[in-house]
Amino acid sequence: MQINVLKFGGTSMADHKTWKQVLEIIQKYEWPVVVVSATARTTRQLVEAAQLASKGKLEEAFEISTSIQQRHSKIVEDFLQENPHPKNKLIKDSCDKHTAAKISKLNKLLTYTRRQKTLSPQMKDAISAIGEQISSYLLAQCGLALDMLTQHIEARKLIKTDNEYGRANPNRLLINQRCGSLETVLESGFTPIIGGFYGEAPDKTVTTLGFEGSDYTASLIGGAVGAETIEIWTDVSGVYTGDPRFITEAKPLKEMSYFDATEMAYFGAKVLHPSTLKPAQERNIPVFVKNMFKPEDPGTKIVRDSDHDLEVLALSFKKNMATVTVSAYETVMGYSFLTKVFAVLEKHRLAVDAVNTTEASVTIALSDDEILDKLSKEFIEVGTVSIEKGKGVLTLIGCSIYSADALIESVFSSLGTAETDMISFTKEKRILNLVLNENELVDVARTVHAKLFKNILL
Ligand code: ASP
Ligand code: MG
Repeated sequence: MQINVLKFGGTSMADHKTWKQVLEIIQKYEWPVVVVSATARTTRQLVEAAQLASKGKLEEAFEISTSIQQRHSKIVEDFLQENPHPKNKLIKDSCDKHTAAKISKLNKLLTYTRRQKTLSPQMKDAISAIGEQISSYLLAQCGLALDMLTQHIEARKLIKTDNEYGRANPNRLLINQRCGSLETVLESGFTPIIGGFYGEAPDKTVTTLGFEGSDYTASLIGGAVGAETIEIWTDVSGVYTGDPRFITEAKPLKEMSYFDATEMAYFGAKVLHPSTLKPAQERNIPVFVKNMFKPEDPGTKIVRDSDHDLEVLALSFKKNMATVTVSAYETVMGYSFLTKVFAVLEKHRLAVDAVNTTEASVTIALSDDEILDKLSKEFIEVGTVSIEKGKGVLTLIGCSIYSADALIESVFSSLGTAETDMISFTKEKRILNLVLNENELVDVARTVHAKLFKNILL
């Protein structure tokens, strides 16, 4: 059985017209397993409602939940109107019933959050997963109106995780076991439709896999069933040489390696969840990024070995960063200094984007969030601390190792008056990172992109 795992993101799930397109794409496959995101805007709205509730603004939070309910009901209504089927009344009823149940659950969680006066990570996950719980069920129902045998499968039954809310770690062994049931579903002629992004902890609470987590769900399932392909259907024609929302002349890449794609996702490109490629890579499953509005476009194929003869493969950038410099007190021995600094990062499970060290000091670039202030208190135990906020990281991925010097030179000559705080280059990983001021980041990215990709832009 050659299974294709297809994932459709928020913009693919925007309205009844795109739902139809999604279902039409699914019909082209013999053994598809489908993973969907929440409809466009829903996850963001859910989080907003949760935050309002935690600040005591329950009425405003309820308004959001009502609008989510109405929007979904309208999508289904429009869909069924355009696709008449004798079962439509039944379909509409079961959609409305399901959505009403989820919205009532949502309102209970919001009320609880208001009472607690704070939004715990656990509650945030339970609330933000509701978008996928609704969208996956409704899409499966709408498939019936096209005479498809679509079947909603609850993601909690498949995606088992630990309980690190907000960025839960999948339990691969359990997921592999649970996903066996998908083959049975397919064999009996049905197409499974699963909500992405969330799963379930051992204590049965809902967890989420992090921003853009639906990609990750798709690849976890793809890895578990040994899929032929994992296909991420989105609103752009693949992975681009630079974020096309900011760099209009960026071009989609035909092919890239798992490694480069992972680095790119990690360093700010929004097309893929950074962990997406891991399960695919383990079983050598090609991952495609395809444009659902232009399905004839080839998209990007991500495979194990992919080489290129460009100076650089792609560029990405990440905003909202900070640099933290810790300088050792004289009493701290050189060799234990770094261990102490990194122990603090480990304790808070923080990933570092770039590091520079001297014997007695270390500068790290990492995402600027609430935890930063807490961190600096702990770093004071090790040395003096200075933090600079308002930074960004520009990353060049897949740098040619043959012309690294020339590359670095052309990057620097495009910086103009922009200041660099930190530079790191790794030949082995073919990555060049620059830490810059956030307000200059996009301009620099554009100039560097124009310069490095001038040949392919012609
Ligand atoms: N709906 C979730 C988000 O916006 C997950 C996803 O779309 O991948 O992050
Ligand atoms: Mg996405």
